[in-house]
Amino acid sequence: MSGSKLKVVVLGAGYAGMMSVKRLTQQLPAEEVEITLVNKHNYHYQTTWLHEVAAGTIDVNRSRIMISDVINTKRVQFVHDTVVKINKEEKTVQLENGELSYDYLVIGLGFEKATFGIPGMDKHAFSIQSVDKSRMIRDHIEYQFARYRNEKNPDPSMLTIIVGGAGFTGIEFLGELAERIPQLCKKYDIPRQDVRIIDVEAMDTILPGFDDELLAYAKESLEARGIEFKLGTMIKEVKSDAVVVGEEQEEIKAGTIVWTGGVQANRLVGEAGFELTKGKVNVDATLRAPGHDEVFILGDCAWVMNNETGKPYPPTAQIAIQEADVCAHNVKTMIYGGTLKEFQFDDKGTVASLGGSDAMGTVFDGNKIYGMQAKVMKNVIDDRYLFLLGGPKLVLRKGKFRPF
Ligand code: FAD
Ligand code: NAD
Repeated sequence: MSGSKLKVVVLGAGYAGMMSVKRLTQQLPAEEVEITLVNKHNYHYQTTWLHEVAAGTIDVNRSRIMISDVINTKRVQFVHDTVVKINKEEKTVQLENGELSYDYLVIGLGFEKATFGIPGMDKHAFSIQSVDKSRMIRDHIEYQFARYRNEKNPDPSMLTIIVGGAGFTGIEFLGELAERIPQLCKKYDIPRQDVRIIDVEAMDTILPGFDDELLAYAKESLEARGIEFKLGTMIKEVKSDAVVVGEEQEEIKAGTIVWTGGVQANRLVGEAGFELTKGKVNVDATLRAPGHDEVFILGDCAWVMNNETGKPYPPTAQIAIQEADVCAHNVKTMIYGGTLKEFQFDDKGTVASLGGSDAMGTVFDGNKIYGMQAKVMKNVIDDRYLFLLGGPKLVLRKGKFRPF
């Protein structure tokens, strides 16, 4: 190689972006390749813990990791800015405060909530999609308790919390609420029976498509702690103080409405003109965008087919992390030659937390686990990621098994 350095630009410091940068720095020589990471915050957050931030069962700072604590900023140029446009033909990225050019681009800009055009959803419902948005939910719920305590004849619906959707995010959030609400009741001297937590799910079951035995376990565990389910009921509209559900247009009044009904790719990938399938970029097996071999798209922005099932992989952190390994290898291969790798998912299982010391899921080759055993496994999965990202020091500082 001769002349100026090649430029690899990574957009988004989520699971896909952080692990790509980590691997790229290990594989590409600093004297030949410049690596730039762009993120709208100067911290990386554990998206998989945001339901805990939203319920208030963990401190906000526990879910945040300063980027400079885990990325070598002498090797990687970190740009604290927001991406506004990707110009794939010119090979540039427009930021709020500048512009970057690239030779290779890695897009890991994650997800945003999908509201499917439900009237009022964007305006009136909270969503669990960033640290700032999750913190709003925590503060709003507590504010409703303070208001209820303070008013002479408070409207009982002030203490009704509606969760829209019973996918993994909804179920994990309900589990945290089941822990948090009794604490708030104690703090504000409010009887637990004054609070209602209602989940509204369009399908006839929670966790559609998941193992029947495990979802029955999850439902019973949550119901035993006072969560109500309205299954087979679609949210049709959201108002400032109520949701309208089902064919009968029943109105349920609530002081807090949280939408966990689905996610879609960051809209910037569509706006960039990439070919989309259900809002995501249909990448090839090497994770490159169609017609743009220099652009890799990972995590929740990518539509990656699982050739064994003929279905796309779901948007999960586990997959985003594994895609980063393939991406780093392939960027290096494109620069220095060799054989490109195709993405193959190594499924380590799925575990959903149910709050406190409860959880359930499947691990390795489909073994079902429940209760404390599953919770320990969930914590091991979380700590393993921290270890990959920042070694034992990060596990000790932020991990679920830290000794303090
Ligand atoms: P993200 O993690 O969303 O990261 C995207 C990054 O891009 C963020 O840092 C964001 O700040 C940044 N960004 C976005 N827009 C811009 C912009 N315009 N400019 C600059 N930066 C930008 N998956 C699992 O495998 N296991 C779990 O247990 C699990 N639990 C979950 C719990 C919850 C509550 C939620 C919401 C999701 C959970 N998931 C879980 C799914 C998982 O979190 C996502 O699949 C994963 O975060 C996707 O990773 P990513 O790197 O694509 O994007
Ligand atoms: P999801 O799409 O998996 O679930 C959304 C739920 O909302 C569905 O059950 C759907 O039927 C329901 N819904 C949609 N529209 C509705 C309406 N109008 N009224 C009522 N219900 C409605 O979304 P999610 O739960 O946010 O999960 C997103 C991704 O993140 C998934 O891939 C999931 O596997 C992953 N995730 C994984 C974990 C874990 O592994 N522990 C935790 C959270 C999220």
